[in-house]
Amino acid sequence: MRSEPHGRTILRDRKSLTSMLFMIVERFRPGCAPEVYRRFRERGRLAPEGLRYVASWVDLQFERCFQVMEADNEALVREWTAHWEDLVDFEIVPVRTSADAAAIMAGAQRPAALDTREAPFKCCGNEEFVILRCPACAHLMVFCAECNTLYPDARDPARRETVRLTRPGDRLTCPSCAVPFEDRAFLTPPHVDKYRATAEQVIAAGLGDLLAKEPAQ
Ligand SMILES: [Zn+2]
Ligand SMILES: [Zn+2]
Repeated sequence: MRSEPHGRTILRDRKSLTSMLFMIVERFRPGCAPEVYRRFRERGRLAPEGLRYVASWVDLQFERCFQVMEADNEALVREWTAHWEDLVDFEIVPVRTSADAAAIMAGAQRPAALDTREAPFKCCGNEEFVILRCPACAHLMVFCAECNTLYPDARDPARRETVRLTRPGDRLTCPSCAVPFEDRAFLTPPHVDKYRATAEQVIAAGLGDLLAKEPAQ
């Protein structure tokens, strides 16, 4: 069992891909705090194999302890709390670091960037591919923003058509549901977020192999 006070070191060194973090709120039963500390001095934390201590904080009244532990499953946490339940009430909350949460949100919302090195699409030589999503029917299609070529079927690079977007009334029309896009400038704000597919949507449609491996900027 590791019980060093510098929990961040352990967090950074995490190896197991399946490990979970738990925020555990311990409420000492009235008058039990001295016994909690006595048992800890005499017997240690009593954590089972596989449950790793990360860090903990105690409030100034010795009523609550906020403890972060790491384990592959919550059962290991329960195994540990069983040694203390006569003295402490436990609340166990699975958590993730804020950094992990931000990465997840960024990954889900980043625009889908086509991997032009490996994609089967060969366009005008200055390819600037965007994966578009029809907001009306969720159809996905590939569009070259350089030459306004639409590939109506993201799975079929042989099918292509030039979209005229020169006059104010020109619109790209969804090849699947025939609903026209609201604006001719659908790749500029504020419209672009409505029409550009996210990586999550592309993956959900089974087209994840079209995506560039590196997140788009
Ligand atoms: Zn092109
Ligand atoms: Zn559509």
